[in-house]
Amino acid sequence: MTTPPRVVVVGASIGGLTAAETLRQEGYAGEIVLMGDEPHLPYTRPPLSKQILLGDWEPEQAAIRTAVELDDLDITVRTGCSAIGLDVGARVLHTSEGALPFDELIVATGTEPRSHPLLPWAPTLRTMDDALHLREQLQVARRIAVIGSGILGSEIASAARKHDAETLLVGRSGSLGFGGVGTLLTPQLIRLHEDNGVELALRADIASAAPTASGGAEITLGATEHRVDLAVVMIGGTPRTGWLDSSGLTVADGIACDSDGIAAPGVSAVGDVAAWADPATGRHVRVEHQSNAIEQAVAVAIRLARGESATQPVPLFWSEIHGARIHAFGWFDPAIPLIDGMPDAPANSAIFASTDDTGRTRGVVGWNASPRDFRAARADVLGSIPALTPQP
Ligand SMILES: Cc1cc2nc3c(=O)[nH]c(=O)nc-3n(C[C@H](O)[C@H](O)[C@H](O)COP(=O)(O)OP(=O)(O)OC[C@H]3O[C@@H](n4cnc5c(N)ncnc54)[C@H](O)[C@@H]3O)c2cc1C
Repeated sequence: MTTPPRVVVVGASIGGLTAAETLRQEGYAGEIVLMGDEPHLPYTRPPLSKQILLGDWEPEQAAIRTAVELDDLDITVRTGCSAIGLDVGARVLHTSEGALPFDELIVATGTEPRSHPLLPWAPTLRTMDDALHLREQLQVARRIAVIGSGILGSEIASAARKHDAETLLVGRSGSLGFGGVGTLLTPQLIRLHEDNGVELALRADIASAAPTASGGAEITLGATEHRVDLAVVMIGGTPRTGWLDSSGLTVADGIACDSDGIAAPGVSAVGDVAAWADPATGRHVRVEHQSNAIEQAVAVAIRLARGESATQPVPLFWSEIHGARIHAFGWFDPAIPLIDGMPDAPANSAIFASTDDTGRTRGVVGWNASPRDFRAARADVLGSIPALTPQP
């Protein structure tokens, strides 16, 4: 394969930056343009709901590379620049600053948070600016409602408790989610929240909500009214693909790609926005974990620089909720309950495993597990991979 002269990367965050940097590390000598619509240089999002919200970090600590480092890598960075359309056949990206021809395009535009129809004014959390705004509000609010029972809802409830606020966590279903593990950890998460003083309102539909004069909200859940100083909405995200509507790319829940991340000739996608085909099942799977964005970006950069396919990344995800360190590795089937993979573990520490119907370990969760125990559990997942039969 001849080296493409210009690679354009849309989305200047962890996925986009990793793709651009890896291209250089792999010896790619052509032009690289990394563009994104945020005003900031690339930063990492996991600390937003943890160290930044708690006030332990300032924004510079979440930055990934400085302007000087990016300059040294000879990567042209355009911040505050939006992709608004794509002509796949002509290989031209349309941006808020004009047309940008490319030889290869890597799309890493992530997701955007959903807003709640009854609380359209309520804050949510995706960007550094959102996190700084929310941090200010958490410092003064005494009663907080977090709407959304996914992992970020749990992390924000944990941060609210650290700020000593009375905290209500509201979810529509009866379960609590944990990224790729789905709702399989619900009993453990419920206990963790209850032990840390979070009031849970699960299977609760918001019947009505109104803003209060002081910036809070009055929320009715069934027959109960809750008046809070702050309501935060964390009900998931949708892939940022609106700008691709007339591109002809296949977009459903994310940009459909083959198992090498190719969406169309000359167009690849990585990270939260991309749905790569799982070689074992052929299903398109979108994964919203930082390590997945990194590994997919590395795989695409290696393919473009060397013309080689890299191995499919295994999803890895971590979180910290009320001080509990929870890591998940691999794939989890929502229909198959987790089994205790380390029954004699010390108190407050556990490894849970997810097996398929033939008994192979496909995923593991480390709950305050030591790095050594979790590494051993990961090896079981890795050991099961060659046994999988790729679909045509
Ligand atoms: C608060 C929070 C906490 C998290 N915690 C964890 C964690 O503990 N562990 C973990 O594994 N993962 C965590 N995640 C998920 C992780 O951050 C994401 O998986 C990761 O950021 C995905 O990277 P990405 O590059 O694909 O997308 P993003 O990081 O979303 O970056 C996409 C970028 O593209 C830009 N963009 C979008 N559309 C356009 C356009 N049309 N033109 C130009 N630019 C555009 C966006 O503004 C953004 O800057 C967390 C996410 C959040 C929001």
